[in-house]
Amino acid sequence: MSPSDNNLGLYVHIPFCHRRCHFCAFYLEIARPDPMARFHSALIQEITLHRRQDSLNGRALQSIYFGGGTPTSLPADQLAGLLTLIRATWPTSPTTEITVEAHPTSVTERDLTVLADAGFNRISFGAESMTDKDFASIGRFGQVQDTAAAVQAAHRAGFKNINLDLMYGLPGQLLQDWIHTLESLMTLTPSHISCYALTIEEGTRLAQDIARNLVLPPDDMLQLDMESAAEHFLAEAGFSRYEISNYAKPDYACRHNLLYWTGGEYLGLGPSAQSYLHGIRFGNVADLEAYTACLNDNHLPMTDRTILSASERQRDALVFGLRLLRGVPRKTIQAAERDYQIDELVAKGLLDADRDRVRLTSLGRRYADTVAEQLF
Ligand code: SF4
Repeated sequence: MSPSDNNLGLYVHIPFCHRRCHFCAFYLEIARPDPMARFHSALIQEITLHRRQDSLNGRALQSIYFGGGTPTSLPADQLAGLLTLIRATWPTSPTTEITVEAHPTSVTERDLTVLADAGFNRISFGAESMTDKDFASIGRFGQVQDTAAAVQAAHRAGFKNINLDLMYGLPGQLLQDWIHTLESLMTLTPSHISCYALTIEEGTRLAQDIARNLVLPPDDMLQLDMESAAEHFLAEAGFSRYEISNYAKPDYACRHNLLYWTGGEYLGLGPSAQSYLHGIRFGNVADLEAYTACLNDNHLPMTDRTILSASERQRDALVFGLRLLRGVPRKTIQAAERDYQIDELVAKGLLDADRDRVRLTSLGRRYADTVAEQLF
């Protein structure tokens, strides 16, 4: 898909958390005042350098996404100031989706009001589960009641678009625990829910505990049952599944993530943030000290730069596009001999295809990457 003016986003990576969850392999730093102050100054400098270079050619942003880490580790006034600077630097429109990720324990009612008043119109809470037992098993800070209180406060602050991130297949989690989580969340009236199967990443505390036989690894069959339970439960509650892990009330699909899945362009700011602009993929250095040193020296902190070939762009369009329930246009799969491959995958029950589009079946969604590779 060729990028268009309407398909441009900005991602801001805030790399701080108060402590690391046992399953988490993201690049992050423990939140402390000095590094956070240095990061804040460096981020302003990064925005300034991009403005001088006119990196986005004056184009309007369709979405702005503050992710992490835990963006709300930074004071709400600082996040508000950063958003004001971004909006003074790049054009936005009244429909620009502006998201901030938050940990339920890291925001007060006042913080949420400051964020909403600054223009954030979507908030994404890392809820993970609605049982305290699960929090303990993944080293998650806080309690279930913190999530409920934070979401209710977000409603009062004026947020209409509220996402809750959930994980399933957690150590010791039973199917009825997962259903309890889904039922409990409905009372909080979110507009969007993301459900991720727990995966074990190398180097995490959870991977070490599994290797030492202290914790059992996730049970694939149980995770599939949990995925089916979520799909049925959320459909009954009025949520449409529009991507493998994402469910939304009508008109609340996440525009920022859709941009990733439909070949849109994005500029990433902050350490480890990735960008894709003008057919080139590039990333920032994943180290706070190196990031701030570069910017103090008036250089953008980029580490790698890859010009994608037409074939790589086509492959990405297929791998990401097939994650969407609506699938991809059949013409995305260009070679004539692919018709045979499509027929074979349809016969195996992995794919649905008509004259115009190709999409994964529920069985195919379990093997999304493998199916995409076979079609490429
Ligand atoms: S809050 Fe999120 S980013 Fe931070 S350690 Fe936990 S999972 Fe990782």
